[in-house]
Amino acid sequence: MSIKGFQGTSLLDFPGRVASLVFFGGCNLTCAFCHNPGLVLDPGQYPDYPVEAVLEQLHARRRFIDGVVVSGGEPTLDPQLLPLLREVKALDLAVKLDTNGLRPDVLERALAEGLLDCIALDLKTAPARYGELHGGPVDIDGLQWSVRLLLAGAVDYELRTTCVPGLVEEGDVRAMGELVRGGRKWVLQQFVPGHSLAEELREIEPHPAEMIRAFAGVAGGYVDGVSVRGL
Ligand code: SF4
Repeated sequence: MSIKGFQGTSLLDFPGRVASLVFFGGCNLTCAFCHNPGLVLDPGQYPDYPVEAVLEQLHARRRFIDGVVVSGGEPTLDPQLLPLLREVKALDLAVKLDTNGLRPDVLERALAEGLLDCIALDLKTAPARYGELHGGPVDIDGLQWSVRLLLAGAVDYELRTTCVPGLVEEGDVRAMGELVRGGRKWVLQQFVPGHSLAEELREIEPHPAEMIRAFAGVAGGYVDGVSVRGL
C-alpha cells in the first residue's frame, strides 16, 4: 500500500472547494464496475509517491487550494493515511475522504482526531450481496459500523451508489435503504460501462435514466435527501 497519484487542482471532487487529489493504491474489494482497476489489481505498476513529496506539493499550493481529497483504491488500508492527514490538517486544509467503509476502526480514529471534514462512503449493493464484490468474505459488520459513524453526523457526508445493472436493482436499493435509514444525503449515480474492471461489464447497457429516478424515489423513503448524478 502506498500513495500512487497526486493531482494538484480539482474543482470537481470536493464541492465548493478547490482541492488537490491524492490516490492510494490497493483495495480490499475488487468491484466488477471499478473504474480504477490499475490501482486495485496492480498498484505496483505505478511509482510510489512519498508522503514528503505530497506534503511539499500541498505546501506549494497552500494559497490556491482549500482542501485535499483522499481517494483510491481504498485509502483506509494504508498505515500512512492518518499521519498524512495530521500533516494536511496542520496546513489548515479541509479533507474529504472517499471510502468503501470496510475499515471503520480507521474511520473512527480519523473522526476522533478531527482529521476529516467530509466523507463520501460508497454503498455498492444490498449488504447481503457484498460477497459478489470480492473473491472472499466481506465484513458487513464493519460497513454497518461505518454507516453508524456517518449517521452520528459529526462531519458532512454523502452516501454514494453507482447503479450497476444486475447489482443495483430496486430490491437492492431498499436493502441499502434499511442500512442507512435516517441518513442525510444519498447520491445515486449512473454507471458508465467503459473502463470497468470486469470486461463483461464494459459492453452492457446502463439502466435507463427513468429507472435511476425511480430508484431515487425509493431511496427518498429512507434518507432526508437524494440526488442523482450522471443522467
Ligand atoms: S470501486 Fe472502490 S471499493 Fe470497489 S474495487 Fe474500486 S476502489 Fe475498491
